[in-house]
Amino acid sequence: MRDFFSDTKTIPTRAMREAILDVPVGDEQKDEDPTTRALCERVAALLGKEAAILLPTGTLCNEIAVNVQTNPGDEVICEESCHLINFETGGPAAISGVMIRTIAGENGIFEPAQLRAAIRPASRYAPKSALLCVEQTANMGGGTIWPLEKLNAVAEIAHRAGLATHMDGARLLNASAATGISPADYAAGFDTVWIDFSKALGTPMGGVLAGSAEFIQEAWRAKQQMGGAMRQSGILAAMCLYGLDHHIDRLSEDHRLAKYLADQIRALPQVAHMQPVETNIIIFDLDDSAPLAADIVAGMKADGVLIGAFGPRRIRIVTHLDVDMQAGEDLLVALKKQL
Ligand SMILES: *Cc1c(COP(=O)(O)O)cnc(C)c1O
Repeated sequence: MRDFFSDTKTIPTRAMREAILDVPVGDEQKDEDPTTRALCERVAALLGKEAAILLPTGTLCNEIAVNVQTNPGDEVICEESCHLINFETGGPAAISGVMIRTIAGENGIFEPAQLRAAIRPASRYAPKSALLCVEQTANMGGGTIWPLEKLNAVAEIAHRAGLATHMDGARLLNASAATGISPADYAAGFDTVWIDFSKALGTPMGGVLAGSAEFIQEAWRAKQQMGGAMRQSGILAAMCLYGLDHHIDRLSEDHRLAKYLADQIRALPQVAHMQPVETNIIIFDLDDSAPLAADIVAGMKADGVLIGAFGPRRIRIVTHLDVDMQAGEDLLVALKKQL
């Protein structure tokens, strides 16, 4: 299978699997796992924060960041297409008792003025605006990159109004690979930020959430409460370290392939609209003359190519470690056959 459904589909390489063999491990809940500690120190430095914590998934990074930085009844502000709202089964409501106020952005990114309008003035009646969340890159926006000035602007508006700020950096390293701006610079205005290891870095699971030492101490309590505390997690951390050492430099290859495929696909007559392709994600809409996205996906699967239907006529393609130029050519042949 040529699997372009998501960068979560990456299979750990043999070298990554071998990287776990000799690493020292210990009881992570007691902070006795040296490899996990090394990973957290490294990610904290990478993101420019005081401390960090390893969690099994990126979803848990988001949920803990919301949980620690809000009280029940508070409001969290985020863009309407974000992962926190659409793919976490209502976690913010169920786990933290918060309300969400959405902003309709463009390709997952909104304007500082929209944030200003969404923040509620202090009131005896209204929910309290407590936390701003942004996604870098914006997944359903098409892997779009928040420009640094805009990130700094929204973070400053939020802080001035007394909100905390959280960055879902599942694909932050893709943004850095595309622009050369460091992850720490992107995250500078944000109190908390995390990166996902199970996406482009190719590990089987894992997210590392970073913030102030005080925040991380509270995150440990939330992690324990939600069942995210682990034991010999150095096995996982070793694979994450391997991903940091070996799979960052190659991210630009994923972006090159995505741009190539986007150029080819954009030229097809049935393609009505394509979101900007800035990193490793391609999202496009087909016009009414094309078959339904679900049928195209099924037809291509029969030809050994997996892509995603994200609406009746919307398709998403993601490039990553396990798909090369040849897989891309196969995708184009299979797609054209369906149109
Ligand atoms: C994948 C993803 C998550 C969740 O990460 P998991 O490790 O799959 O739980 C959160 N936010 C964004 C933007 C994502 O793409």
